Amino acid sequence: MKKVVILGGGTAGTMMVNKLATIANRYDLHLTIVDRDETHYYQPGFLFIPFGIYSEEDVVKPKRDFFPTGVDVIMSAIDEIKADESKIKLTNGKVLSYDFLIIATGSRTAPGEIEGMQNGGWRRNIFDFYTPDGAIALTRFLKYWEGGKMVINIAEMPIKCPVAPLEFAFLADWWFTERGLRDKVEIEFATPLPGAFTKPIASKFLGQFLEKKNIQLTSEFNIGKVDSANNKIISWDEKEIEYDLLITVPTNMGADVIADSGLGDDLNFIPTDPNTLRSKAHENIFVLGDATDLPSSKAGSVAHFQAEVLFENLLRTLDKRPLDPHFDGHANCFIESGFGKGILIDFNYDIEPLPGKFPLPGVGPFSLLEETRMNHWGKMMFRWVYWNLLLRGAELPIEARMNMAGKKRQ
Ligand SMILES: Cc1cc2nc3c(=O)[nH]c(=O)nc-3n(C[C@H](O)[C@H](O)[C@H](O)COP(=O)(O)OP(=O)(O)OC[C@H]3O[C@@H](n4cnc5c(N)ncnc54)[C@H](O)[C@@H]3O)c2cc1C
Repeated sequence: MKKVVILGGGTAGTMMVNKLATIANRYDLHLTIVDRDETHYYQPGFLFIPFGIYSEEDVVKPKRDFFPTGVDVIMSAIDEIKADESKIKLTNGKVLSYDFLIIATGSRTAPGEIEGMQNGGWRRNIFDFYTPDGAIALTRFLKYWEGGKMVINIAEMPIKCPVAPLEFAFLADWWFTERGLRDKVEIEFATPLPGAFTKPIASKFLGQFLEKKNIQLTSEFNIGKVDSANNKIISWDEKEIEYDLLITVPTNMGADVIADSGLGDDLNFIPTDPNTLRSKAHENIFVLGDATDLPSSKAGSVAHFQAEVLFENLLRTLDKRPLDPHFDGHANCFIESGFGKGILIDFNYDIEPLPGKFPLPGVGPFSLLEETRMNHWGKMMFRWVYWNLLLRGAELPIEARMNMAGKKRQ
């Protein structure tokens, strides 16, 4: 019997354990999944909480509801991964050994990385929406805010769901308009990127939306510190932006246990083969989801495509076959653009988001790089798809590799 241990029972780990459970008997596998928290958060839903579209109850379910029977579920924090001994030390005192390890410990926000971020203004007029606590605290603040200057700032890349800060800006524009406050709110979007997004075509397209919505874009702003006594953020090259309300997307980092185990880079992300998803340092370790150091987006949709490739590669390893370098960085993201509309982008390591129809070439129903009502419904349907299909490891009618059919090259 081969022991497969999955670390992290979030989006990626849960999908993976469900896929592996279907072949556990056939391949004589003993599956174990470890996580420290009982609660599964639907993280894409955090975006909607400050605007009252979702409440906290809409984004939580018990993790155990999604773990298949026959799998050992251990609720404990992971203390250390001893990769050279193929062992894991848990904080509950247990030591697990493995033949194959899948690390899916995700990424977390680290506001403490930015000088002054958590001084006086934190959760008073400085909020994040990447955590449930942050999103809820911001909801309470926005309810009573009468206007002023709102600055949305990305501290540094990479961040999970790189479109989420833009979506926040678009939704804020809509929400303040609905409440009759838009003329009292100035919105500025300050990013370390050279434009609104990471890829030039999408960056230009999304930049036009910021302009249309009267949201000021400040690019190449690399935050160095927050001066919360004077309500301003200051970049490394001494540029200053004043705010009345700061919405920060703090530095995103991999789990501390990755650093403690000597497995990560400067941001605790794990060096991973970009196509096979095997750890670059250890033959019997694979990495999935936000925990990788890959240049693909850190998104649930990406974790889903990766899980399909990793599943196949684990089977190949068990069958003593070479790995298939099948992962191409495929990402598929709905972007909520406010006023009941949305945009969809589909891209990979090499090909930028292009216009076209998705998933059925020429038919849709979704439109790529275009703002439509149907795309908004796709975004809202994603929650159902997430809880009912994605987490359960179900096959979806979208291939792991990006498909060029239905896309128009520019
Ligand atoms: C605001 C926001 C909006 C988003 N919008 C979208 C979207 O529209 N579409 C999309 O596809 N994606 C979106 N995402 C991104 C998506 O949620 C993540 O990419 C996805 O959840 C990553 O899955 P993961 O399994 O790698 O990490 P996670 O789901 O975060 O799971 C990591 C797990 O590891 C566990 N863990 C970590 N360290 C330890 C330890 N030491 N001991 C034990 N357990 C540990 C954690 O408890 C957690 O359960 C969004 C994210 C945010 C924050």
